Amino acid sequence: MTESELGELLEALPLPALLIGPRERILAMNANASGLLGQGLVGRHYVAALRQPALIDTIEGVGRDRLTRNVDYTSHDGDRDMIWAANVAVAGAGILVSFEDRTLAAEAGQMRRDFVANVSHELRTPLTALMGYIETLQGPARNDQVARDRFLATMAGEANRMNRLVQDLLSLSRVEAAARVKPTEEVDLPSLIQQVKALLGTISAERETRIEFVPPPDPVVVPGDNDQLRQVFVNLLENAIKYGGGTVTVDLTVDPHIRELRGPGVRIDITDNGAGIDPLHLPRLTQRFYRVDTHRSREVGGTGLGLAIVKHILSRHRGRLRISSEIGQGSCFSVLLPTKTA
Ligand code: ADP
Repeated sequence: MTESELGELLEALPLPALLIGPRERILAMNANASGLLGQGLVGRHYVAALRQPALIDTIEGVGRDRLTRNVDYTSHDGDRDMIWAANVAVAGAGILVSFEDRTLAAEAGQMRRDFVANVSHELRTPLTALMGYIETLQGPARNDQVARDRFLATMAGEANRMNRLVQDLLSLSRVEAAARVKPTEEVDLPSLIQQVKALLGTISAERETRIEFVPPPDPVVVPGDNDQLRQVFVNLLENAIKYGGGTVTVDLTVDPHIRELRGPGVRIDITDNGAGIDPLHLPRLTQRFYRVDTHRSREVGGTGLGLAIVKHILSRHRGRLRISSEIGQGSCFSVLLPTKTA
């Protein structure tokens, strides 16, 4: 096979691939491989051309015993590392090196590990407190009625916190499991918002917050999952009460064209006049466990999962969450829902 035929053969492969010839020089490589490793490497010795010691050692090993090997290869693409599995195998008198992109799998693995670490940390904090109180109640405070009542009340609070976290984790996994299932119910948004407002009556009264919502005279119906949309408004209104205070207003607008939805939809703005959020935090606010102020979130009973759940539910509805806020000016969380899903 001529060198140009070899080149054509490699070009037909979807992976970056290169062939090292018998004299340890790069005989041919495809455009994907040039994009990954650099231009003008054909004809050069592979040790000079490839640079990463682990890859070079692997090629040497395959040259020695002719057994196929795999090795990780890392490249840098703009602002992120890309992880490749380089497969090195004997091909006739030469050695074929091909690169399989494992970046997404590696990122997913990292996300899973981070998530497990976060969940463990979030559960361990209340659990450690509970264990401490149990020990005290079994020991020094065994016969102290006053301390016992106080400790039990704190323990109930910690157990509640664990319970909320587990509930939110279950919600998140249920929402994720149904992510590709199109919602089939018809939901009348004004009456749903009225229900949520009633549901949050106690907590808004406790925090001396008023929820203002003037429902339009006619129903505004969107295709949706009633329970999930209820959860969206519960989470957003609860946040507005917890972090906002004063007056929370809910405005509903039917819009013939919502830019983010590229079509007709309904926009529900939930506005509070609380402390607001530094714009720096806005892009990360819907990430799991992301909080602007962890201490404050814990104090008001937050789990750090509320907005992640909202985002997942809205994405199942082909909707969006728009957040605008300024320090000292309060925040506005807008739910955008399409009136029709294609
Ligand atoms: P949490 O359970 O901590 O409330 P969320 O996912 O609901 O978690 O919200 C993430 C973070 O976003 C909160 O910890 C808080 O810092 C911030 N946040 C959410 N809503 C508001 C709001 N209306 N005003 C100010 N900050 C908010």
